[in-house]
Amino acid sequence: MARPMTPEPHPRPDALVFTDLDGTLLDHTTYSFEAARPALERLRQSGIPLVLATSKTAAEVAPLHERLGLGATPAIVENGAGLYDPAAPETGGDAAYQEIRSALAALPRDLRAGFQGFGDLEAHDVATLTGLSEEAARLACKRCHSEPGLWSGTEDGKRRFLEALLGHGLSARQGGRFLTLSHGSSKADAMASLVRRFRPRLTLALGDAPNDVEMLEAADCGVIVRNDHAPPLPLLKGEDTGRITRTDRPGPEGWNDAVLAFIDRISAR
Ligand SMILES: [Mg+2]
Repeated sequence: MARPMTPEPHPRPDALVFTDLDGTLLDHTTYSFEAARPALERLRQSGIPLVLATSKTAAEVAPLHERLGLGATPAIVENGAGLYDPAAPETGGDAAYQEIRSALAALPRDLRAGFQGFGDLEAHDVATLTGLSEEAARLACKRCHSEPGLWSGTEDGKRRFLEALLGHGLSARQGGRFLTLSHGSSKADAMASLVRRFRPRLTLALGDAPNDVEMLEAADCGVIVRNDHAPPLPLLKGEDTGRITRTDRPGPEGWNDAVLAFIDRISAR
């Protein structure tokens, strides 16, 4: 029996580019993407969608998404725990976040006491902890899918805390500073769902930090953007074959070089 025809949701792009923000597309210190403008323009001309992939919330990403002129292209937010869909920014809701908060509330008191999440803090506390302005911290607190926080208990307590959360279907990732709780999706998982949706012929991913590694390794081409403010990433799977490369220049300068070279390469085929 013939399978029913399903409509094609998007014209199939030649490529889909996934990029981390801080230290990758955005300068580590100034948060500027000025140096990447030539490559951003080439992507636009070539009809290649740019997917932002970040630990930031949808509320934090929306103004940058707008300044970059990314139109209807979704962005990966909260480290892959959610998507920001500019066509329907309000439809995501925060049900997943409320589940995390309920799971925390249901923990034995001694385990709960060791964890202080953004939801337990005022915006000005988050501003102090993160170095964000109070306004930016307010946007960082508008969470829908994940809960970052600080663990202040013992290592054994942390192990029991994480075990108890696992019983609620939650897992945790330790970043440079925050322990982030979520239902377990990574940037690479969210990337896979967008690849199924857009069906690009090729994928390019760019990042600078350990939370980008899975995404870099999952892409057809990966680019490690030089970041002089953090220890370099270890040698990744795919660097030996040239599938993953490193930029000479840091941040948006390196990003610009790598994306222009990628577009040159695919347009020469
Ligand atoms: Mg980064």
